[in-house]
Amino acid sequence: MLEIRGVSAGYGRLEALKSVDLTVAKGEVVFVVGPNGAGKSTLLKTVSGLMAPSAGTIAFNGETIAGEPPERLCCRGLALVPEGRSIFRTLTVEENLSVAAMIRSDRDAAAADRERVLDLFPILRSRYHGVAGHLSGGEQQQLAIARAILQRPLMMMIDEPSLGLAPLVIDQVYESLRQLNADGLTLLVVEQSTARILDLASRIYVLRNGHVALEGAACDLADGHALEEAYFGYG
Ligand code: ATP
Repeated sequence: MLEIRGVSAGYGRLEALKSVDLTVAKGEVVFVVGPNGAGKSTLLKTVSGLMAPSAGTIAFNGETIAGEPPERLCCRGLALVPEGRSIFRTLTVEENLSVAAMIRSDRDAAAADRERVLDLFPILRSRYHGVAGHLSGGEQQQLAIARAILQRPLMMMIDEPSLGLAPLVIDQVYESLRQLNADGLTLLVVEQSTARILDLASRIYVLRNGHVALEGAACDLADGHALEEAYFGYG
């Protein structure tokens, strides 16, 4: 579904991604993990059209997308939940969901999808008329994911969904990702920590200093040693 080949990207003279190869097949949950400054957010920004790569190719569903603006990629079925969640804090939960559904012309299906996300995240139903800025961190993360679902993506990219959340709340967010994947959504998830990813991941990439230091199936990395070595750069 997503094929990234030899992609480099950076900020001025700083090369934050150095010839990265990464693929995501339909139905997979692929995690990209790595320490601070490894290039994880830069990777998502480059795939989602917020940054142009300086080299390499990116294809989504067999079509080249590198350099396309985010709004066009969104219509192609690629949704991004950025770090920091980017919800409208002064709007209500209902209004946040309405804004996200604005690109939809299929009103009945959009209404059905809204019911579905409210079933998936019951807390959003109970806070429906409340201001989004008053939600807890975990609730805001759920709202951000709910907004992305309303775009009907084929693939969702999420930047650090567990950032700043308590362990129990992370469990809830991860459980919702598991349900979305079981319903057919392909996921590319960035996390700084490897702590909770093994149960949900199909495959894992470790990014360090802009390079892919390791790539493997979650089942082959289950004991954690190779992950730790690649993450910290031992050996
Ligand atoms: P974190 O887990 O801390 O969010 P990350 O793996 O997502 O880190 P990036 O945010 O992609 O890393 O940053 C990769 C490199 O690019 C870092 O050296 C960072 O300082 C640099 N960088 C990121 N954003 C900018 C920017 N807007 N301008 C200049 N340099 C940047």
